[in-house]
Parts: sequence; C-alpha cells; structure tokens
Amino acid sequence: MALTAKQKLFVKEYLVDLNAKQAAIRAKYSAKTAEQQASRLLSNVKVQKAIEEAMNKRAEKVEIKAEQVLQRWIDIAFADPNEIIHFRRVCCRYCFGIGHQYQWIDEVEYEAAGEIARIEAEQGNEPVKLPSDAGGYGFDPLIRPHPKCPNCHGEGHGQLHINDTRDLSPKAKALYAGAKATAAGLEIKMHDQDKALDNIARHLGMFKDESKIDLTIRNKLEDFFK
Ligand SMILES: [Zn+2]
Repeated sequence: MALTAKQKLFVKEYLVDLNAKQAAIRAKYSAKTAEQQASRLLSNVKVQKAIEEAMNKRAEKVEIKAEQVLQRWIDIAFADPNEIIHFRRVCCRYCFGIGHQYQWIDEVEYEAAGEIARIEAEQGNEPVKLPSDAGGYGFDPLIRPHPKCPNCHGEGHGQLHINDTRDLSPKAKALYAGAKATAAGLEIKMHDQDKALDNIARHLGMFKDESKIDLTIRNKLEDFFK
C-alpha cells in the first residue's frame, strides 16, 4: 500500500529540518500527540523507505551541483586571459614595403592620398608633390614587425586587442565577466583566477597547512585537468 497523503506530507516536511515532531505538526497531525505520531511514522517501514529514497535523490543532486561548481572553478582558473584581451606588437608601414619604403594597403588608399596632396597643393598655391608608391601595396596591419626594419627597428607599434567575446572558448567564456564603457575607455572584467584556483585546491583538500598555493601546484593541476 502506498503512503497516505498525510504521510507523504510528513516525509516532505521531515526532509526540511529532520525534526520529526515539528514535521508531524506541519503535516497537520494533532499538536498534542505529535510526538507519539512522529515516532510511529518514523518506525513505519514505508515511511522510512520514502525518507531514504528522497534523501538519496537529494544527495545525488547535491553531488551534481558540487561537480558543476568545481567545473566552473576549473574553467575560470585555467582559462587563458590572452584569449579575451592581449597586447601585441604589429608591423609599421616600412616593415614589409619594397626596400623598406612606405607600403600602401592598396591602390585605392594610394590614390586617395594623391588626391589629398593635389587639394593641399592647390590650396597652398604650391606645386603638387605626389607620394611615392615605390614601397608597393599589400600592407597588413596585423603582421608582426620585421626584425630588420630600419624605421621601427623591429618594434612596430604596440596594440591592445580585445577579441570578439562571442567566439571565446568555453573556458575563456567562464573567465569573462563582461565589459563596461568608462570615461577612460572600455573596461574588460574577468573573474578572479587566483580565487578560483584557491577554491579548487580547497575542494580537493590540497591545503595540508594554510600556506599559500604555489606555482608548482598550479602546474600540476593544469596537467591533471588537461
Ligand atoms: Zn617597421
């Protein structure tokens, strides 16, 4: 025979605080006899079984939750911040021009520059001085600097680059905590990787003493989760 509606309610209430007497009262058993009712309910095999099943189910859920939380910490701790934002050095106009002369993107850019030179000459009543295209075309602003460039000496210029956050890997997505426009520019926010690592170490019981986690542990963990 299945549990009665009242017994079912008792099981549900008992799971809230594991207080049988209060659970009996909340399940609408008489407050006067709640204590006796409670002990009778708890010795009922069917009630016992229902409580045990519910507790097992709950333990499973908690386990899954804990695993999910741990996975999130792992994602945050081992994500590469460079995937979100990185500093790079890129070539100058003279790095890859023919004979290290000024390199244009294409003819359209070169002609536009010529047009500006013509207008300026006209306004200043001076002879037109067209720019040279001896350095050729095909300037790519994303290439690393040429190490022997006589103009930038292989340093190019520095550039802060923010990736399209829609294309981030799952780990980097977990690390990314949003962007905010500020007076000083765009602020990229990230979750605290050291804290995440700390949480993992605690979860795995890696703190034998309270000393801070060091880099060797971090490296070991990285290998472990590869
Ligand atoms: Zn250069």
